[in-house]
Amino acid sequence: MKRKVHKKRRISDKNAWNVLNRSCSGKARYDSEEAAWAHSDKIYEEYGNDLTPYKCTACGKWHLTNTSQG
Ligand SMILES: [Zn+2]
Repeated sequence: MKRKVHKKRRISDKNAWNVLNRSCSGKARYDSEEAAWAHSDKIYEEYGNDLTPYKCTACGKWHLTNTSQG
């Protein structure tokens, strides 16, 4: 017999979980803005992609986002 295990999640709000999941899942996280910028520079040099760091309200860490300026 299999026992069902329900993992408790700290986030009770389903929407909040969705936002967190969508914005964080598969995204690199950086502990500081500096670290994010360092990586942004690297990506720009290698691929020419201009990525801008932003602080994630879901996880409190930094992510890079693609800013397309017309
Ligand atoms: Zn995040």
